[in-house]
Amino acid sequence: MSTLEIKGLVASVAGKQILNGIDLTVNSGEVHAIMGPNGAGKSTLSAVIMGKPGFEVLAGEVLLDGVDLLALPTWQRAQAGVHLVMQYPSEVPGVSLTDMLAEAYAARGRTADGLDESVAAEAQRIGFAERLLDRSLNVDLSGGEKKRNETLQLALLRPKFAILDELDSGLDIDALRDCARRVEDATNEGPVGEGLGVVAITHYNRLLEELHPDRVHILVKGRLVASGGPELADRLEIDGYEAFSTGEPEQDAAPSAGRSALDDFLAI
Ligand code: ADP
Ligand code: MG
Repeated sequence: MSTLEIKGLVASVAGKQILNGIDLTVNSGEVHAIMGPNGAGKSTLSAVIMGKPGFEVLAGEVLLDGVDLLALPTWQRAQAGVHLVMQYPSEVPGVSLTDMLAEAYAARGRTADGLDESVAAEAQRIGFAERLLDRSLNVDLSGGEKKRNETLQLALLRPKFAILDELDSGLDIDALRDCARRVEDATNEGPVGEGLGVVAITHYNRLLEELHPDRVHILVKGRLVASGGPELADRLEIDGYEAFSTGEPEQDAAPSAGRSALDDFLAI
């Protein structure tokens, strides 16, 4: 079994502190949902875990089976077994899906023998049209096709942990169901105790109807202000984020100081 541990994580971007002390432990096979209003720091958390340039870690650590991920460049974090499905997947002209996967396999010491067959089988399973397999990565794909493509990569690369940054954004109901079910299946695949661990960032309960969370955490103003079982997501549907507002003033003198999380949510 593997463990992804986030301890006391404080981080800033563009000189503004966004994450104010995040603690989260995810084990293999577990699904942890992180829900929160716009601007709460959800994407920042995923960016900091993967090492996106421009984000500064001020305190805390991120450990994968005890290894300090924050000391590694992004590609080594991926190689170590952390995979990010971005909210807006990048288009990479000139690079095909199989080229990219062959390189990723090589970086993981895996042979690319039979890769074409694996890709075709996985494409069928996830409902990614075979005629799209020859296109450059994500180029000219619809929002739903991009997310199916990203989910296909996740399934084939078999990381230890996946961070899904709003997998549900830009997806129609069918694509959402297919992608969420594929991720859910991955949590149960592989040797016993080695299923995919998931951090699923989402606004909506809809995703969680297919991808069943073990734990739900509410992120408001860079802090996890509540954690619980799946019933917490149901409560959120009724009460909104305001019930979880920290009530604390912002740490700096930004114009938004004193606003509630709900104000921020409604303003966007
Ligand atoms: P969420 O994903 O929860 O909607 P984000 O993590 O994207 O929130 O953003 C949190 C805050 O950090 C917002 O106020 C946003 O404007 C700010 N922020 C995020 N990325 C950058 C950046 N690259 N430069 C400046 N500010 C940023
Ligand atoms: Mg975001």
